[in-house]
Amino acid sequence: MNTYDVSVIGSGPGGYIAAIRCAQLGKKVAIVERYPTLGGTCLNVGCIPSKALLDSSEHYYNAEKNCKTHGIELTGLRCNFKSMRKRKDKLVSQTTDGVRYLMDKNGIDVYTGWGSFRDATQLQIKKEGGDSVEIQSAKTIIATGSKPGTLPFLPLDKKRVISSTEALDLKEIPEHLLVIGGGAIGLELGSVYRRLGSQVTVIEYADRIIPTMDAALSKELMKCLKKRGFAFELSTQVTGATVQDDKVSLEAKDKKGKSLSFTADYCLLAVGRKPYTEGLGLERVGVQTDDRGFIGVDEHWQTQRENIYAIGDVTGGAMLAHKAEEEGVAVAEHIDGQKPHIDYNLIPHVVYTWPEVAAVGQTESQLEEAGIAYKSGEFPMRALGRARASGDVDGAIKVLADEKTDEVLGVHMVGARAADLIVEAVVAMEFRASAEDIGRICHPHPTYSEAVKEAALDAFNGRPLNR
Ligand code: FAD
Repeated sequence: MNTYDVSVIGSGPGGYIAAIRCAQLGKKVAIVERYPTLGGTCLNVGCIPSKALLDSSEHYYNAEKNCKTHGIELTGLRCNFKSMRKRKDKLVSQTTDGVRYLMDKNGIDVYTGWGSFRDATQLQIKKEGGDSVEIQSAKTIIATGSKPGTLPFLPLDKKRVISSTEALDLKEIPEHLLVIGGGAIGLELGSVYRRLGSQVTVIEYADRIIPTMDAALSKELMKCLKKRGFAFELSTQVTGATVQDDKVSLEAKDKKGKSLSFTADYCLLAVGRKPYTEGLGLERVGVQTDDRGFIGVDEHWQTQRENIYAIGDVTGGAMLAHKAEEEGVAVAEHIDGQKPHIDYNLIPHVVYTWPEVAAVGQTESQLEEAGIAYKSGEFPMRALGRARASGDVDGAIKVLADEKTDEVLGVHMVGARAADLIVEAVVAMEFRASAEDIGRICHPHPTYSEAVKEAALDAFNGRPLNR
C-alpha cells in the first residue's frame, strides 16, 4: 500500500492548492478526485466556464448595442452559440490540463476515483469500473466542495429545470429563462442569456438582489440590469412548479400573498449550494457535520479528528474559490508547524455581471449593527474621464471609514472592472490604511482606479477633487 504524509480528497481550488503547498513544504502528497479532470467545480463547471461565456456574450452585446456609438458599424452580426460553447469547453480543458501539469511538476500522485475513509489513516479509492485501491496517510485534508442546492418541490430534471452546471452547457439560447435566486450565480448566468437575447426573469425571495452585499450595491446593480432588460420579482416565494413538454411553469406568492405564475422554456435554480460529503465515510472516523451538512472545523481547519482537516466549500462560510485557495495554503502551513492566519473579513466578494460588483470588509448595515461610528464617501463612475471615454459610466464606489481613526472598514463598488479594482481596497485594508492614505496615493490618469481615490477623499473629509 502506498503511504503519504498528506492525502487530499477533492481537486478543486481548495484541494489542488493545498496539495501543491504541502508538496512545496517537502511532504509526500496524494490527491484523490472522482472525476477524470482535475480542478473541481471552479475549473469544470463554475468560475472558468461561466467567465468564458460571460466574456463571449459581452462581446456580442457590445457588438450589437455599443459599437455603433464608437463609430463601428457592423452588418450581418450573428451569434454562433455552438462556437461560443466550443471555445468555453476548450478553455476548460486547457485549464484543467494545467492543474494536471502542476500535480506532475510538484511530484503529487493523482488517484482517480471515489475516496472514502476506511479509518482515520486509510483511504479507499473506488475507480469507475469497480476496482479499488487503498492508500495510507498520516494526515488527510477533505476538500470535497459543494453541489447545487435544490427546492423540495422542484427537483432538477436537468433538461428544463436546470442548475448552473446545465446552464453552462445548454444547446440552445432560451427564449425565456426563469432564474430562481438573485445571487451571484443566478445573475451571472442570467446575464449570459440576456445578452444573447433571452427574456430573463429573476425571482428572489429577499427584498433585494445580492442580498448579502451592501444594500447600495443591490440598488445600483438592479438599476443597471433593468436597463439591460432584466425583469425582477423581489420578495417573491416560489411555491410550486410543473414541467410539461418543453415548458416549465412556476407558482409563486409575493409579499402581500398575491399569487403569481410564470411560464418559460427553462428554469435555472440558483438557490445556493450544499456541502458535498456523500460517500466519504465520515461516520467511520467520527467527523461530524452541522445541521446543514457542513463539516465543522476549528481555527486550524481541523475536524474532531486530530489528523483530519477540511477546507473550502464543504466547511461553509464564503463559498468562493479564492477563500478555498487561501485555506488550502493555510492548512498546509499549519500541518508544517507554521502559524498561518486568514482574515475572513478581507475576503473580497465579486459578481461578474456588467457592470461588475465587488466588495470587501463591512457593509453599512453590519457597521450599524455592531455600533461602530463610521463615515462614508462616494464617487460616481460617470464623473471619471476614463469611464466616459469607454462609455461604461454606470455605477459608483463607496468607501466606509471609521469616524474617529479614518481606518478603511469597507469598500463597495459597482462599475466597469470592479472585480480588479477591489484588490486595491484589499491591500489597503490588509495594511490597515486610512481613507486619507488612499486619497493621497497617486493613481494613474485616466483610469477607473481614480474613483477609489476620489471616494476615499470623500470619506476622509468630504473633498473629492473631480466632483
Ligand atoms: P470544489 O471546487 O467543489 O471541488 C471539490 C472536488 O471534490 C470536486 O472535483 C469533486 O468531484 C471532488 N470530490 C467530492 N467528493 C469526492 C470524493 N468522495 N472522492 C473524490 N473526489 C471527490 N467562486 C469564485 O471565487 N469566483 C467565481 O467567479 C465563481 N463562479 C462560480 C460560478 C458557478 C457557476 C459556480 C457553480 C461556482 C462559482 N464559484 C466561484 C464558486 C467556486 O467554484 C467554489 O467556491 C470552489 O470551487 C470551491 O472549491 P473547493 O475546492 O472547496 O471545492
